[in-house]
Amino acid sequence: MTRFDRVSGGSLPDRPGPDMIVASSDPLLTNSAEQAVGDRWTLKLSHNPGKLAASLHRFGPAVIVMDDSLLSESERSDVLGKIRVCAPHSSLIYVASEHRDEYERWARAMGVNYYLSKPIEAARFASILTSFLEHRAGERGPAKPSRMEKPQVMKTFVMSEMNRVGFLEKPIPQAGPNDAIIQTTRALICTSDSHTVRGAIGPRTDLTLGHEAVGIVHKVGSEVKLFKPGDRVVAGAITPDWGDLASQAGHPSQSGAALGGWKFANIKDGVFAEYFHVNDADANLALIPDTVSDDSAVYCCDMMSTGFMAAENADIPIGGTVAVFALGPVGLMSVAGAKLRGAGLVIGIDSVPARQELARRYGADFIIDHSGIDPVKGVMEITGDDGVDAAIEALGNNNTFQNAIRVTKPGGVISNAGYHGQGEFVNIPRVEWGVGMAEKTIRTGLCPGGRLRMQRLLRLLETKQIDPTLMTTHRFPFAQIDKAFEMMDKKLDNIIKPLILFS
Ligand SMILES: [Zn+2]
Repeated sequence: MTRFDRVSGGSLPDRPGPDMIVASSDPLLTNSAEQAVGDRWTLKLSHNPGKLAASLHRFGPAVIVMDDSLLSESERSDVLGKIRVCAPHSSLIYVASEHRDEYERWARAMGVNYYLSKPIEAARFASILTSFLEHRAGERGPAKPSRMEKPQVMKTFVMSEMNRVGFLEKPIPQAGPNDAIIQTTRALICTSDSHTVRGAIGPRTDLTLGHEAVGIVHKVGSEVKLFKPGDRVVAGAITPDWGDLASQAGHPSQSGAALGGWKFANIKDGVFAEYFHVNDADANLALIPDTVSDDSAVYCCDMMSTGFMAAENADIPIGGTVAVFALGPVGLMSVAGAKLRGAGLVIGIDSVPARQELARRYGADFIIDHSGIDPVKGVMEITGDDGVDAAIEALGNNNTFQNAIRVTKPGGVISNAGYHGQGEFVNIPRVEWGVGMAEKTIRTGLCPGGRLRMQRLLRLLETKQIDPTLMTTHRFPFAQIDKAFEMMDKKLDNIIKPLILFS
């Protein structure tokens, strides 16, 4: 059976090495590859996919074919992840020994551009490879490009390995037909960047960090209709595949797999670079209005989108009561979002004075300092023992999550925005949950992305209903992002959000 996938991702400018690498010992695949390459292209066969990624050195070929029969089940994610990070702009074709739906979903989530399963017909396979090679040739001009030309390079800030970051030069990415390349102007560091470096999503090699950025459109693919070079744009931190069934079902952040819309600094290079690549550009970018600054618009990517999502998911009745657990940037935007949704009483819970002060400015009516008072008692006291209509968890902590359930009224909503990155279980307190019958709803979500979402958030900036730049406590040029990263990691100097400026 053959499965089709849209060609996405981009090719790199001319580079040394073969045009195609095929990791397989299946004669049908290798013979088809030879036929596809003919005398126009160069081919290298590999029988050791485990070592393939290490040999790429970021100058990957236009096309990589991976036959999974060379890999044990346990190696597959690791090998694919490494290839995707080492050669982010190669078209990756994956050949499965047998078709399974969940396997295909996994392959897509790993950044595979084209998935096939055996049995495969030789002529058909050769023609698929030829079309990939020709597509790439079209992108880079003459069929036999000069090997001497150096790829254009850019400066990036990467997770070189677990617990290590640094600067690295990489080739400027190229746009596939539906993609755009953005020249970065502003970026924000997120606490989740620190989590990633500490291993929250597993090991990564030379992965460009960052998922919150705005910039100028540098290049667009042939199929991009709504954007052109020179446009000032915001890209959501989450860049879903809008053709995916999860997107069509109304859950674009889960496209391809659970959290599959999260691509930047997860399954592909992120935005802490002079240029970054955006898939499905028409659906994932939004024009920034003239009256909105880059400094302000960059908060749409994640902080406003996630914080407001928490308030939207909380289903707050007009005049209703809300408790927001933790007042980091997402919690602060949850407070602001609750106000925008018409909350009558917002209680913020945090022990850091600078955050408490900001929460008041964003509309919190009461602040509970949990270092001095039990937050559950505090909320119950303020609400006359009623509890709140909605509780927002903006930390990702088991105890905080339980407290959110405890303070929520029967019939209320617990809206989770926190990232629960530790432990085997997240617990529900049985009695306070009404032994499962108190109609307390738990809702979860990942930062929504997409053009419509970004346009709505930008409208709030345009009409000055919120000023997210109050959260910008520090500013650094890109050359000093390493310092900013360390400050954010250690939460030094009352840092809330450091803004990174690109020249
Ligand atoms: Zn973020």
